[in-house]
Amino acid sequence: MTTHLIAGNWKMNGLGADLAEASALAAALKAEPARARVALCAPATLVERMARTVVGTAVIAGGEDCHAEVSGAFTGDISAEMLAEAGAAMVIVGHSERRTYHGETDAIVAAKALAARRAGLEPIICVGETLAEREAGRALEVVNAQIAGSVPAALAGSPVTVAYEPVWAIGTGLTPTTPQIEEVHQAIRAALVKALGQAGKGVAILYGGSVKPANAAEILHADEVGGALVGGASLKAADFLQIVRAA
Ligand code: PEP
Repeated sequence: MTTHLIAGNWKMNGLGADLAEASALAAALKAEPARARVALCAPATLVERMARTVVGTAVIAGGEDCHAEVSGAFTGDISAEMLAEAGAAMVIVGHSERRTYHGETDAIVAAKALAARRAGLEPIICVGETLAEREAGRALEVVNAQIAGSVPAALAGSPVTVAYEPVWAIGTGLTPTTPQIEEVHQAIRAALVKALGQAGKGVAILYGGSVKPANAAEILHADEVGGALVGGASLKAADFLQIVRAA
Protein backbone atom coordinates (compact mmCIF):
# COMPACT_ATOMS: atom_id res chain seq x y z
CA MET A 1 0.00 0.00 0.00
CA THR A 2 1.30 3.46 -0.93
CA THR A 3 1.66 6.34 1.52
CA HIS A 4 -1.44 8.46 1.91
CA LEU A 5 -1.45 12.06 0.72
CA ILE A 6 -3.24 14.57 2.93
CA ALA A 7 -3.60 17.77 0.94
CA GLY A 8 -5.08 21.02 2.19
CA ASN A 9 -6.99 23.37 -0.10
CA TRP A 10 -7.06 26.87 1.36
CA LYS A 11 -9.37 28.08 -1.43
CA MET A 12 -9.71 31.92 -1.43
CA ASN A 13 -8.72 32.17 2.24
CA GLY A 14 -5.60 33.48 3.88
CA LEU A 15 -6.06 37.25 3.47
CA GLY A 16 -3.46 38.82 5.75
CA ALA A 17 -2.17 35.38 6.71
CA ASP A 18 1.23 35.33 8.33
CA LEU A 19 1.56 31.64 7.47
CA ALA A 20 1.79 30.84 11.18
CA GLU A 21 -0.60 27.91 10.69
CA ALA A 22 1.62 26.49 7.96
CA SER A 23 4.75 26.89 10.13
CA ALA A 24 3.00 25.29 13.09
CA LEU A 25 1.97 22.34 10.92
CA ALA A 26 5.49 21.92 9.55
CA ALA A 27 7.06 22.18 13.02
CA ALA A 28 4.68 19.63 14.52
CA LEU A 29 5.28 17.17 11.68
CA LYS A 30 9.05 17.52 12.14
CA ALA A 31 8.70 16.20 15.65
CA GLU A 32 6.88 13.00 14.72
CA PRO A 33 7.38 10.03 12.37
CA ALA A 34 6.03 10.64 8.85
CA ARG A 35 2.63 8.98 8.43
CA ALA A 36 1.63 10.52 5.13
CA ARG A 37 2.69 12.96 2.47
CA VAL A 38 1.31 16.35 3.45
CA ALA A 39 0.60 19.31 1.16
CA LEU A 40 -0.90 22.77 1.50
CA CYS A 41 -2.36 24.29 -1.66
CA ALA A 42 -2.72 28.04 -1.33
CA PRO A 43 -4.02 31.03 -3.34
CA ALA A 44 -1.52 32.12 -5.99
CA THR A 45 -0.40 35.19 -4.03
CA LEU A 46 0.60 33.01 -1.07
CA VAL A 47 2.34 30.16 -2.89
CA GLU A 48 5.83 31.67 -2.79
CA ARG A 49 5.60 32.52 0.91
CA MET A 50 4.06 29.14 1.62
CA ALA A 51 6.94 27.43 -0.18
CA ARG A 52 9.48 29.47 1.78
CA THR A 53 7.68 28.74 5.03
CA VAL A 54 7.71 24.97 4.55
CA VAL A 55 11.08 24.62 2.79
CA GLY A 56 13.15 21.83 4.33
CA THR A 57 10.11 20.32 6.07
CA ALA A 58 7.81 17.46 5.13
CA VAL A 59 5.10 19.84 3.93
CA ILE A 60 4.74 20.32 0.17
CA ALA A 61 3.51 23.67 -1.20
CA GLY A 62 0.94 23.66 -3.98
CA GLY A 63 -1.30 25.85 -6.10
CA GLU A 64 -5.07 25.62 -6.54
CA ASP A 65 -5.32 25.96 -10.31
CA CYS A 66 -3.15 26.66 -13.34
CA HIS A 67 -3.59 27.67 -16.97
CA ALA A 68 -2.76 25.17 -19.70
CA GLU A 69 -0.30 27.51 -21.46
CA VAL A 70 3.19 28.48 -20.27
CA SER A 71 2.63 32.21 -20.81
CA GLY A 72 0.67 34.62 -22.98
CA ALA A 73 -2.35 36.90 -23.17
CA PHE A 74 -4.41 35.28 -20.42
CA THR A 75 -5.12 38.14 -18.01
CA GLY A 76 -5.51 37.02 -14.45
CA ASP A 77 -4.29 33.49 -15.05
CA ILE A 78 -1.20 31.77 -13.73
CA SER A 79 0.76 29.02 -15.46
CA ALA A 80 2.02 25.79 -13.98
CA GLU A 81 5.56 26.99 -14.69
CA MET A 82 4.88 30.15 -12.64
CA LEU A 83 3.67 28.04 -9.74
CA ALA A 84 6.78 25.87 -10.03
CA GLU A 85 8.97 29.00 -10.07
CA ALA A 86 7.19 30.16 -6.90
CA GLY A 87 8.15 26.87 -5.22
CA ALA A 88 5.03 24.74 -5.70
CA ALA A 89 5.39 21.02 -6.31
CA MET A 90 1.68 20.25 -6.75
CA VAL A 91 -1.43 21.85 -8.19
CA ILE A 92 -5.14 21.11 -7.87
CA VAL A 93 -6.93 21.03 -11.24
CA GLY A 94 -10.63 20.61 -12.00
CA HIS A 95 -11.90 21.42 -8.52
CA SER A 96 -15.71 21.56 -8.67
CA GLU A 97 -15.60 25.26 -7.80
CA ARG A 98 -13.52 25.82 -10.97
CA ARG A 99 -15.79 23.56 -13.01
CA THR A 100 -18.92 25.37 -11.69
CA TYR A 101 -17.85 29.03 -11.47
CA HIS A 102 -15.38 29.08 -14.37
CA GLY A 103 -17.05 26.66 -16.75
CA GLU A 104 -14.09 24.28 -16.83
CA THR A 105 -14.80 21.22 -18.95
CA ASP A 106 -13.06 17.85 -18.77
CA ALA A 107 -10.98 18.85 -21.80
CA ILE A 108 -9.78 22.02 -20.05
CA VAL A 109 -8.98 20.05 -16.91
CA ALA A 110 -7.03 17.48 -18.94
CA ALA A 111 -5.00 20.27 -20.59
CA LYS A 112 -4.25 21.76 -17.16
CA ALA A 113 -3.14 18.36 -15.85
CA LEU A 114 -0.75 18.01 -18.79
CA ALA A 115 0.53 21.53 -18.15
CA ALA A 116 1.25 20.55 -14.56
CA ARG A 117 3.25 17.57 -15.76
CA ARG A 118 5.13 19.75 -18.27
CA ALA A 119 6.13 22.07 -15.39
CA GLY A 120 7.18 19.20 -13.13
CA LEU A 121 4.19 19.58 -10.80
CA GLU A 122 2.02 16.73 -9.53
CA PRO A 123 -1.59 17.44 -10.53
CA ILE A 124 -4.42 16.59 -8.16
CA ILE A 125 -7.27 16.04 -10.63
CA CYS A 126 -10.71 16.46 -9.02
CA VAL A 127 -13.91 14.69 -10.00
CA GLY A 128 -17.28 14.25 -8.32
CA GLU A 129 -21.00 14.20 -8.86
CA THR A 130 -23.62 16.78 -7.86
CA LEU A 131 -26.46 15.93 -5.49
CA ALA A 132 -28.94 15.79 -8.39
CA GLU A 133 -26.67 13.35 -10.22
CA ARG A 134 -26.34 11.13 -7.13
CA GLU A 135 -30.06 11.21 -6.49
CA ALA A 136 -30.65 10.20 -10.10
CA GLY A 137 -28.38 7.17 -9.57
CA ARG A 138 -25.76 8.61 -11.93
CA ALA A 139 -22.77 9.08 -9.60
CA LEU A 140 -20.63 6.31 -11.11
CA GLU A 141 -21.51 7.25 -14.68
CA VAL A 142 -20.60 10.91 -14.04
CA VAL A 143 -17.34 10.15 -12.31
CA ASN A 144 -16.33 7.58 -14.96
CA ALA A 145 -16.90 10.16 -17.69
CA GLN A 146 -14.92 12.79 -15.77
CA ILE A 147 -11.96 10.41 -15.37
CA ALA A 148 -12.09 9.44 -19.05
CA GLY A 149 -12.14 13.12 -20.06
CA SER A 150 -9.86 14.69 -17.45
CA VAL A 151 -7.05 12.13 -17.09
CA PRO A 152 -5.07 12.00 -20.35
CA ALA A 153 -3.18 8.79 -21.21
CA ALA A 154 0.04 10.81 -21.50
CA LEU A 155 0.07 11.14 -17.69
CA ALA A 156 0.86 7.43 -17.34
CA GLY A 157 4.10 7.03 -15.41
CA SER A 158 4.34 10.59 -14.09
CA PRO A 159 3.24 11.67 -10.61
CA VAL A 160 -0.50 12.19 -10.60
CA THR A 161 -3.21 12.07 -7.95
CA VAL A 162 -6.98 12.00 -8.32
CA ALA A 163 -9.47 13.35 -5.77
CA TYR A 164 -13.07 12.15 -5.53
CA GLU A 165 -15.03 15.10 -4.20
CA PRO A 166 -18.82 14.77 -4.28
CA VAL A 167 -19.96 18.34 -4.91
CA TRP A 168 -22.73 17.99 -2.32
CA ALA A 169 -20.20 17.08 0.38
CA ILE A 170 -17.90 20.07 -0.12
CA GLY A 171 -18.23 22.56 2.73
CA THR A 172 -21.62 21.17 3.79
CA GLY A 173 -20.73 18.87 6.67
CA LEU A 174 -22.32 16.02 4.70
CA THR A 175 -20.29 12.97 3.70
CA PRO A 176 -21.17 9.82 1.78
CA THR A 177 -21.29 6.60 3.79
CA THR A 178 -18.10 4.55 3.80
CA PRO A 179 -19.61 1.94 1.41
CA GLN A 180 -20.60 4.79 -0.95
CA ILE A 181 -17.05 6.17 -0.86
CA GLU A 182 -15.62 2.70 -1.50
CA GLU A 183 -17.98 2.07 -4.40
CA VAL A 184 -16.93 5.26 -6.16
CA HIS A 185 -13.22 4.81 -5.40
CA GLN A 186 -13.31 1.27 -6.80
CA ALA A 187 -15.01 2.58 -9.95
CA ILE A 188 -12.37 5.33 -10.23
CA ARG A 189 -9.62 2.72 -9.92
CA ALA A 190 -11.09 0.77 -12.83
CA ALA A 191 -11.49 3.97 -14.86
CA LEU A 192 -7.87 4.94 -14.13
CA VAL A 193 -6.63 1.57 -15.36
CA LYS A 194 -8.64 2.14 -18.54
CA ALA A 195 -7.16 5.63 -18.92
CA LEU A 196 -3.55 4.94 -17.89
CA GLY A 197 -3.08 1.18 -18.21
CA GLN A 198 -1.02 -0.49 -15.48
CA ALA A 199 0.06 2.95 -14.20
CA GLY A 200 -3.54 3.54 -13.17
CA LYS A 201 -3.10 0.96 -10.41
CA GLY A 202 -0.58 3.15 -8.59
CA VAL A 203 -2.46 6.47 -8.65
CA ALA A 204 -3.58 7.65 -5.22
CA ILE A 205 -7.31 8.40 -5.05
CA LEU A 206 -8.06 10.99 -2.37
CA TYR A 207 -11.47 11.53 -0.85
CA GLY A 208 -12.55 15.15 -0.36
CA GLY A 209 -15.70 16.72 1.10
CA SER A 210 -16.19 17.70 4.75
CA VAL A 211 -13.24 15.66 6.04
CA LYS A 212 -12.76 16.59 9.70
CA PRO A 213 -10.74 15.21 12.63
CA ALA A 214 -13.86 13.29 13.74
CA ASN A 215 -14.42 11.36 10.49
CA ALA A 216 -10.88 11.20 9.08
CA ALA A 217 -9.84 7.79 10.44
CA GLU A 218 -12.85 5.96 9.07
CA ILE A 219 -12.60 7.62 5.66
CA LEU A 220 -8.83 7.21 5.36
CA HIS A 221 -9.00 3.50 6.09
CA ALA A 222 -11.72 2.78 3.55
CA ASP A 223 -10.88 0.59 0.56
CA GLU A 224 -9.07 2.44 -2.26
CA VAL A 225 -8.85 5.69 -0.29
CA GLY A 226 -5.31 6.96 -0.73
CA GLY A 227 -5.63 10.14 1.29
CA ALA A 228 -7.78 13.23 1.64
CA LEU A 229 -8.26 16.64 0.06
CA VAL A 230 -9.29 18.92 2.89
CA GLY A 231 -10.81 22.39 2.57
CA GLY A 232 -12.08 24.10 5.72
CA ALA A 233 -10.24 21.86 8.17
CA SER A 234 -6.87 22.61 6.52
CA LEU A 235 -6.91 26.25 7.64
CA LYS A 236 -6.08 25.46 11.26
CA ALA A 237 -2.89 23.49 11.87
CA ALA A 238 -4.38 21.73 14.91
CA ASP A 239 -7.34 20.33 12.92
CA PHE A 240 -5.26 19.45 9.90
CA LEU A 241 -2.67 17.68 12.08
CA GLN A 242 -5.36 15.47 13.57
CA ILE A 243 -6.39 14.45 10.05
CA VAL A 244 -2.76 13.73 9.12
CA ARG A 245 -2.38 11.68 12.29
CA ALA A 246 -5.45 9.64 11.36
CA ALA A 247 -3.75 8.41 8.14
C1 PEP B 1 -12.51 21.13 -0.98
O1 PEP B 1 -12.90 22.25 -1.29
O2 PEP B 1 -11.69 20.56 -1.71
C2 PEP B 1 -13.06 20.52 0.22
C3 PEP B 1 -12.94 19.24 0.35
O3 PEP B 1 -13.69 21.36 1.12
P1 PEP B 1 -14.24 20.97 2.58
O4 PEP B 1 -13.22 20.05 3.23
O5 PEP B 1 -14.34 22.27 3.29
O6 PEP B 1 -15.53 20.27 2.37
